[in-house]
Amino acid sequence: VFILAIESSCDDTAAAILQNDKVLSNVVANQLIHNQYGGVVPELASRAHQQNIVPVVDAALRKANIQKEQLSAIAFTQGPGLMGSLLVGSSFAKSMAVALQIPLIAVNHMQAHVLAHFIEEDGFDKPSFPFLALTISGGHTQIIKVANFFDMTVIGETTDDAVGEAFDKSAKILGLPYPGGPLIDKYAQLGNPKAFAFTKPKVPGLDFSFSGLKTAILYFIQKKKLENPNFVDENLNDICASIQHTIIEILMDKLKLAVKETGIKQIAIGGGVSANSGIRNTLKEAENKYGWKTFVPKFEYTTDNAAMIGIVGYQKFLTQTFETSSVVSKARIQL
Ligand code: ATP
Ligand code: FE
Repeated sequence: VFILAIESSCDDTAAAILQNDKVLSNVVANQLIHNQYGGVVPELASRAHQQNIVPVVDAALRKANIQKEQLSAIAFTQGPGLMGSLLVGSSFAKSMAVALQIPLIAVNHMQAHVLAHFIEEDGFDKPSFPFLALTISGGHTQIIKVANFFDMTVIGETTDDAVGEAFDKSAKILGLPYPGGPLIDKYAQLGNPKAFAFTKPKVPGLDFSFSGLKTAILYFIQKKKLENPNFVDENLNDICASIQHTIIEILMDKLKLAVKETGIKQIAIGGGVSANSGIRNTLKEAENKYGWKTFVPKFEYTTDNAAMIGIVGYQKFLTQTFETSSVVSKARIQL
């Protein structure tokens, strides 16, 4: 089975070719244009998708050394995401599926972040059901109980900002460029995580809150700058390490509670923030510390990519879960 997968939910135009559960090619065109605006500009994103989609799909086919006539089906991201961005991918996928007379498969982007773990990859184990997924990205922070490929229940999620936003907004307060998450990670590796203490939010159950942390950091920095205008420059590594440490503690507290409540000790992380080295190390340590089995996907399958759309496409191909061209894109969808 050869699947062409297309992902265009936000600001990256991506296409991948899978042969069954193996990735033959995985191409992403990043839209750097948004960096100068400090965030994704929806109108610019959909225009860039229109420019990128043909060359990106073409590159995916070429790299996989596959002719489009060999394709078994086309999978695309139905949502959630920016409507203008989603429409570019879905229109393209629909036209190509009609032209080639092959099935069309709609994929939920958040399910794809979870199921990315099922891509066949040397050196990476697949979780077995049931497991807990911690999806941490620019738009989401969720703990999901995964009973089967398409039997997922959100058991905890953020009540305000996503963890990626917490990273990016903290970075902005420190004067770092967008997106600041990877930079906080970089400086944190050189700093002392216990240098500064930020209060953790008190949210009941398995839900999260990150907006209070951002405010706490803002007030802390403002106060310190009054005493020493160079405070941030002089302490950047320690500040970043302390912010990252606090975020990791918040995530770990909830994961421990989720394990306790469900009795499930397999934890699979996904989403762009799972690229964070501190989170990766802490999860690995948790294997010995708590007897968990943890799964961290290959780096290129953590941030938005089409290979993860392709693996969901493959699973849906096996169960013949196809759509007609009248399927609609959705800015919001549940799991
Ligand atoms: P969603 O999947 O919820 O729609 P998204 O697709 O925009 O959101 P991703 O691409 O999965 O989000 O993740 C982007 C986020 O990941 C950004 O907030 C970015 O700062 C953060 N991020 C990426 N690398 C790191 C890192 N090493 N440390 C911390 N955060 C990181
Ligand atoms: Fe995403």
